[in-house]
Amino acid sequence: MKKPNVVILGAGYGGLMTTVRLQKLVGVNEANITLVNKYDYHYETTWLHEASAGTLHHDRVRYPITDVIDRNKVQFVQDTVVKIIPQEQRVLLEKGELSYDYLVVALGFESETFGIKGLKEYAFSIANINAARQIREHIEYQFATYNTEIEKREERLTIVVGGAGFTGIEFLGELVNRVPELCREYDIDPKKVRIICVEAAPTALPGFDPELVEYAVGVLERKGVEFRIGTAIKECTPEGIIVAKGDETEEIKAGTVVWAAGVRGSYVIDESGFEEMRGRVKVDPFLRAPGYDNVFIVGDCSLMINEETNRPYPPTAQIAMQQGELCAKNLAVLIRQQGELQPFKPDIKGTVCSLGHDDAIGVVFGKKMWGSKASFMKKMVDNRALYLIGGPSLVVKKGKFNIF
Ligand code: FAD
Ligand code: NAD
Repeated sequence: MKKPNVVILGAGYGGLMTTVRLQKLVGVNEANITLVNKYDYHYETTWLHEASAGTLHHDRVRYPITDVIDRNKVQFVQDTVVKIIPQEQRVLLEKGELSYDYLVVALGFESETFGIKGLKEYAFSIANINAARQIREHIEYQFATYNTEIEKREERLTIVVGGAGFTGIEFLGELVNRVPELCREYDIDPKKVRIICVEAAPTALPGFDPELVEYAVGVLERKGVEFRIGTAIKECTPEGIIVAKGDETEEIKAGTVVWAAGVRGSYVIDESGFEEMRGRVKVDPFLRAPGYDNVFIVGDCSLMINEETNRPYPPTAQIAMQQGELCAKNLAVLIRQQGELQPFKPDIKGTVCSLGHDDAIGVVFGKKMWGSKASFMKKMVDNRALYLIGGPSLVVKKGKFNIF
């Protein structure tokens, strides 16, 4: 019997989890497994706010994909996916193409700018290693340039963060620790630096526990963050942003604007003709795309409705990894033509949001926590993700052990 070709697109949490679990479940003679990724490394997306602020070097956030895959069983292709043609079971890459019997799409998220003018051109977003490195370098450049100019432009030292969702808050938590270091390094009076967070909803972290939100906002305000709540970014310009609160608009001049106010699934999904909403495909209970029983979609490109709330599950690493694990099991069933496909049942253990390296807030197994206890928990969550993909040796190499 011909060995089926299994192609996995994307080596983020969803794709890499599918790969490492599948390589354990099936033998060399049972399937050809190919993993495609734009880079030859995996990055911990959930640590990118640290690399963006410069509190953690980007090399700490990534590791070679070949460190965790079994090269006897998995062929790794470094290339960029351009389009999927599901009717023909083909994937177009920048440098070639692949055909498949079973496909797993795990291409992750991209920044969603909702058509707001100027954001694509003038704002940064925390999207991958290259973007994170650019944000860190850009902020540092602004600080380094400030004192070299005859006519000093204080707006160089203003950093705007768009959105007080989890990404915005975690990035602010790192920034407030990084800015004092930058001030010392570049002879800058800390009073001249402004960090402004603009959030359209009536609260930061909309939908999260109000007491914990108050704690997080309090911590960040005491470290200098100015929150503009109930205020929406309407435009981004080379000089800064235009915001609106009710009928009033205001220009905020800023040397750096980081847009952390929305994500969508990969544009490859739009290009490939799947039924989608902002790059996310509403998958069936077994994680398959409608109309294509041999195409699985996991992670941020998938959309599943939480029947308790009648709203989509949020795109998270926690869900992407659980989907990857199930997807591998379901692929093994199909490859062996034995057993039954299992439906996906998310097991949400909680949410922990860091506020720098030594503080955090969270709800874990229904229990609220904050301060150093929550911060410890956050590091355990980060280490657990490493363990699930690469086992104890990856935790030893990349884990976070600076507990307090
Ligand atoms: P990704 O992790 O985005 O991986 C996608 C992979 O596909 C990448 O390797 C990328 O290089 C590759 N790729 C993309 N396009 C192409 C292409 N065209 N061709 C080839 N390869 C491609 N979630 C949590 O649960 N907990 C957290 O604490 C948390 N913290 C976060 C912090 C930040 C700063 C951010 C931005 C997000 C955070 N999230 C968190 C959300 C979480 O990171 C995402 O839900 C998760 O990364 C989705 O996993 P994924 O596998 O779908 O995609
Ligand atoms: P998000 O969509 O969760 O939050 C975006 C925020 O931006 C919202 O509060 C929204 O009201 C605000 N916003 C939207 N448009 C705006 C505008 N024009 N002006 C000002 N504010 C505006 O996005 P995110 O924070 O990037 O999170 C993406 C996903 O990643 C979520 O599922 C989140 O749960 C997950 N995540 C989790 C963690 C964690 O668990 N620690 C950390 C980061 C991200």
